[in-house]
Amino acid sequence: MAHLEYCSNCGEKNIFGMIEGQNRFHCESCKKIHYENPKPTATLICVKESKLLLVKRAVEPAKGQWGLPGGFIELGETPSEGAIRELKEETNLDGKPIRLVGHCSHHNTIFGDVLLLGIEMKIVNWSKMKAGDDAAEAQLFNLLDLPSLAFICHDKIVELYKST
Ligand SMILES: [Zn+2]
Repeated sequence: MAHLEYCSNCGEKNIFGMIEGQNRFHCESCKKIHYENPKPTATLICVKESKLLLVKRAVEPAKGQWGLPGGFIELGETPSEGAIRELKEETNLDGKPIRLVGHCSHHNTIFGDVLLLGIEMKIVNWSKMKAGDDAAEAQLFNLLDLPSLAFICHDKIVELYKST
């Protein structure tokens, strides 16, 4: 957690300890509390008939494993805008967000805490499917016969989709 070693307000060294009911980085010199929050992702459920779209990850973490398409929502984006952009970047497909399937929290990853928002996308034209950006391959898998997925939260979002 070296990124919070020094206070961004006054430059003094931060301490990590109990304040406002939780352990947090804060500055005893200027009293600034450095709040940290989970990073939200758009994690996509795209189904064609009874097949689910997965991408093989081209980057760490979990490089080489299959997972749901998606990624971190950028500053200024809504979850829907992030979903549309990530789908296009990773699979070249144009999709429309239909509904929030559910969410899953993943703690202490290399990115810190991540809040995955499972979003179901409607795709009309599948003919343009082509892997890109941080996806090495894009492929449809039978929902009843999926490979093991890169993250437990992806399994959970698939289960939420199947159960609703
Ligand atoms: Zn300070």
